[in-house]
Amino acid sequence: MKILLVYPVFPDTYWSFRHALTFAGKSSAFPPLGLMTVASMLPDSWEKRLVDMNVESLSDEDIEWADMVFLSAMIVQKDSLEEVVARCNAKGKKVAVGGPFVSTGSPELSEADHIFVGEAETTLPEFIHDLELGVPERIYKADERPSLQETPVPDFGLIDIENYSSMSVQYSRGCPFQCEFCDIIEIYGRKPRTKSNHQMLAELDALKATGWRGMVFIVDDNFIGNKKNVRGLLPELISWSERNGSPFSFFTEASVNLAEDDALLEKMEEARFRRVFLGIETPAEESLKEAQKSQNTRRGLLESVKKIQSYGMEVMAGFIVGFDNDPEDIFERQINFIRKSGIPLAMVGLLTALPDTQLWRRLESEGRLLKESTGNNTDCSLNFVPKMDKERLVEGYKAVLQNIYSPREYYQRALDCISHFKKDKILTRKIDVIQDLKSLTKLLLTLGVKDKGRIRFWNYLIKLVMFYPREFGHGMTLAAMGYHFRKVTAANID
Ligand code: SF4
Repeated sequence: MKILLVYPVFPDTYWSFRHALTFAGKSSAFPPLGLMTVASMLPDSWEKRLVDMNVESLSDEDIEWADMVFLSAMIVQKDSLEEVVARCNAKGKKVAVGGPFVSTGSPELSEADHIFVGEAETTLPEFIHDLELGVPERIYKADERPSLQETPVPDFGLIDIENYSSMSVQYSRGCPFQCEFCDIIEIYGRKPRTKSNHQMLAELDALKATGWRGMVFIVDDNFIGNKKNVRGLLPELISWSERNGSPFSFFTEASVNLAEDDALLEKMEEARFRRVFLGIETPAEESLKEAQKSQNTRRGLLESVKKIQSYGMEVMAGFIVGFDNDPEDIFERQINFIRKSGIPLAMVGLLTALPDTQLWRRLESEGRLLKESTGNNTDCSLNFVPKMDKERLVEGYKAVLQNIYSPREYYQRALDCISHFKKDKILTRKIDVIQDLKSLTKLLLTLGVKDKGRIRFWNYLIKLVMFYPREFGHGMTLAAMGYHFRKVTAANID
């Protein structure tokens, strides 16, 4: 059996980092970890190939080679997914689709032959069994959430690591909190399940064996969801890094209550965690309460950000406008908060009702749902009737974006962020002198000559070199990221 695994195109969003990656000669930020894990669950005797459409195009020959095509996608990849399904159908190939898009109560993808709802550890063995008997069903639905203790090491051999700016691993699924807008808890549940320490170290061994050196994204939606297990993992991660010459720095996502746990922060710092994404959402307490985000109201949010930064971790964060309880001055408050936080990569989106979430159900019962979510909360579209006047909300949102990604605001936040990095907290990265010089030249030409914000850029660069020379690489990465954010913003608000 020949299986072609295809990862559809991820559109140009803040998370694609596409405009920043071009400077580094990379095609995509992260590899398709879900499909690489699925590949490891398929029988060894099956031949497998993977096409990540974010780094290469899908050819007709690829499709013709396969007996069956497996796809996995998020809602935001829906258009590309449907296009691939149609191409495969036209060539008479069987298509199997899984991932968050089909797992969150989205409308059925009628053209796919097989649909996997839920996690592959539960559905895939049954499908393989039925396929071997010649009686595969159309829909496989996971009735239970599987333990991750049997989840295999992803097949890193299916990708070319050079195409990516970061590698990914997963430690846990699920989150104990109950944010109203969140689909993670609907898909993966509120009881976080983790892999064993042994599994995690085996994945890192496999990654190291590929030759990868640099950033590793632990893709968990909340890495500290199961704090007890994380506390057990970190000392082993620290020893592993020491034994292996510290080949990786880590980046993950966590809930804001991370700031309440100094012992955990200390261990994360020691384990080389250098960046963490927080769901801050809003400085308006009444909106946090509405969103059932109580973990963000227990202490000052700014204080929490500063605490985490003080452990040598760059904070990235998500922000949302459009809550029913947002006060009239929410836009100014978001701008001021982001300015004071020293968070360069502040991802501000409009509230969106994802399928099958608590928010979706509430808005449906209130008769306020308008349409399916695009899965992209920065494209200025609303899929529900907001309490605030719609025009005012969208205009206010655009004003926030224009302000926070303006060169003046962005470069200042980047400097504030860098000032928190201690001298020995350089990010691990592979040195490639020729590529690094090419990247720097391209960056200087684009940001220092062609870009409208070039004066601000040179001002930033001078301060970077004068005050934080050891953070030069980090500072240049942030400058490239800022360029990406400006490009995506301009495309979204035009
Ligand atoms: S903390 Fe994050 S992952 Fe957990 S429920 Fe809230 S939004 Fe979802």
